[in-house]
Amino acid sequence: MKNLIVANWKMNPDSAEDAEYLFDGILKSAPKLKNTEIIICPPFAYLDRLSQKSKIKNGKVKTYLGAQDVFWENKGAFTGEISPKMLKKIGANYVIIGHSERRKNFVETDEMINKKIKAALKSGLKVIFCVGEFERDEKGEYLKFVKNEVLEGLKGIPRALTKNLTLAYEPVWAISSNKGARPDTPEELLQMIIYIRRILFFRFGRKIYKDTPVLYGGSVDENNAKNFIEKGQAQGLLVGRASLSAKSFVELLKSIN
Ligand code: PEP
Repeated sequence: MKNLIVANWKMNPDSAEDAEYLFDGILKSAPKLKNTEIIICPPFAYLDRLSQKSKIKNGKVKTYLGAQDVFWENKGAFTGEISPKMLKKIGANYVIIGHSERRKNFVETDEMINKKIKAALKSGLKVIFCVGEFERDEKGEYLKFVKNEVLEGLKGIPRALTKNLTLAYEPVWAISSNKGARPDTPEELLQMIIYIRRILFFRFGRKIYKDTPVLYGGSVDENNAKNFIEKGQAQGLLVGRASLSAKSFVELLKSIN
């Protein structure tokens, strides 16, 4: 299975020129990694421009593009929304769905996330579905919380659609923009990766659980990335802050080589 390293730029940088500069910086210096796919998720506004750029081979590595959200209908009176079809046409291969910042700031419910996942998978987009608890309580309630997010998000999704599904475990307390954030430990991450894989096993069976990557996200940088993959057994990483500088993102990629 390939490792996926996903750069979530969130609402950055604040101009198309800076977005191109960052993209070029990554393409120029990123190392060629065996069995690794690099996915850059810029704001919608830059997708088209970066998609044109990514067609010109100017680096050693191929990068894929992803969006940070999508709507569940393909057209109609949905002011401000972007459809799966539009994303595909513009050159996005991936889409992040259910990020905790969207769940919180835009009150995205499990039901909405489920509709988005279904629509995106049906349209052929690859989905990076984010789950993660707000806190790790001692009683272990967080395990139920994560299980519920996984099962509700994947409700009614047939096995046939799961080949383009990736999960990203992102504990909210570990995301660098949250006060007091700290990265998970590889040891505790391993427990969660096993737990999420068990949920997938019971929901979809052996084949799907083996083929579905589970990533980790939350304060990942060049110093801890390798441990999350090697000791934590994540099949890749979702990277926020450290993906906003070509230098630190490239260092991160080199560190896992
Ligand atoms: C994220 O928000 O998806 C994320 C992982 O952010 P950071 O790496 O900055 O913690």
